[in-house]
Amino acid sequence: MPLDPTNKCSRCLESTCCTYTTEAIGTPRSKADFDHLLWQISHAGVEIYKDSSGWYLLVNGRCEHLREGGLCAIYDRRPQVCRDYDNAWCEFDEPAAKHFALHFRNYDELLTYCKKRFSRWGS
Ligand code: SF4
Ligand code: SF4
Repeated sequence: MPLDPTNKCSRCLESTCCTYTTEAIGTPRSKADFDHLLWQISHAGVEIYKDSSGWYLLVNGRCEHLREGGLCAIYDRRPQVCRDYDNAWCEFDEPAAKHFALHFRNYDELLTYCKKRFSRWGS
């Protein structure tokens, strides 16, 4: 992909797509499943969301190869996932969170959800 003004990546100084990772997780159903998620989300930078394709762990953290100005320090040998990423629609256009059906940014938000979902959560 050419890095010239016709490519929006060359105008994207934040490179939001390089500042977090996501990992698909199984759909949580039981109290034990949500208790496990509460442990995970208790860690700095960890969020959880659900969109039309399922549930995901989101781990905030800038890639160590991301240079100021949005350039990749290992562009010629960047991982395959970076090569495969399609910028036809990305966070330069709108925040991904706009399409989240559920989004928990911290322990308290997820705990509130658990208490609503399970009437006997604390017992
Ligand atoms: S894919 Fe999108 S968010 Fe990532 S660097 Fe390119 S324009 Fe920016
Ligand atoms: S390796 Fe390069 S393209 Fe991939 S996430 Fe890091 S900075 Fe972005």
